[in-house]
Amino acid sequence: MLHIRNLEAGYGKVQVLHGISLDVPRGQVVTLIGSNGAGKTTTMRAISGMIKPGAGEITLQGRRIDGLDSYAIARRGLAHSPEGRRVFATMSVTDNLTLGAFARLTGSRPKGDVQDDLERAMELFPRLKERRNQLAGTLSGGEQQMLAMARAVMLNPDIVLLDEPSMGLAPILVEEVFRIIADLKSRGVTMLLVEQFAAAALQVADYGYVLENGSIPVHGSAAKLRDDPAVRAAYLGGG
Ligand code: ATP
Repeated sequence: MLHIRNLEAGYGKVQVLHGISLDVPRGQVVTLIGSNGAGKTTTMRAISGMIKPGAGEITLQGRRIDGLDSYAIARRGLAHSPEGRRVFATMSVTDNLTLGAFARLTGSRPKGDVQDDLERAMELFPRLKERRNQLAGTLSGGEQQMLAMARAVMLNPDIVLLDEPSMGLAPILVEEVFRIIADLKSRGVTMLLVEQFAAAALQVADYGYVLENGSIPVHGSAAKLRDDPAVRAAYLGGG
């Protein structure tokens, strides 16, 4: 589905990613693990076109997407739920979600019925259903985080990039986020996941990559990484 080869990216003169390669097969959940500043968010931004890669290749369903702008990449079926709350504060929950379907409607991908997708998103995120007419800016932080995720799902994407979906959430909502990720996986949605809760991410994921200072020293099946003593010590709270 998504293949990345020798990707380099950064900000101005600062190079953050030093030639990383990774694969996200169709229907799988792949997670990127790493300490603060390792380059996880930068990887997500380079894939979705928010920043331009300096070198390397990114292919989505066999077609190069590196160098395209983020809107063109969204139209190819890649949705990015970025770190932090990026919702339209003065629009209602429903309008935010409807906007999520926009790239699909103008692209060459199957249109489907936005109303059906809206119902499905509300089913997946019951908290948003209760608040469908509320202005997004008045939602709690956790609810806004869910809205950003739900909006990505509205694109009916082939692949979703989820950057720290549980950031800043109370424990009960963190559980809900992981339940939603598992639910999306069972519906066949392909995902690339960055999560501060690495242990939980490796529970839901099929495969993982460890990112350190913009390089990938270790990767393997989620089960293998869960059992790797060095990975456990560095990222999974020891043991
Ligand atoms: P975290 O877990 O803390 O979110 P991360 O692995 O996602 O970390 P990145 O956000 O990709 O890390 O940051 C990698 C490096 O790039 C850091 O040194 C950061 O300071 C730098 N960086 C990130 N965004 C920018 C920016 N807009 N301009 C300049 N440098 C940036």
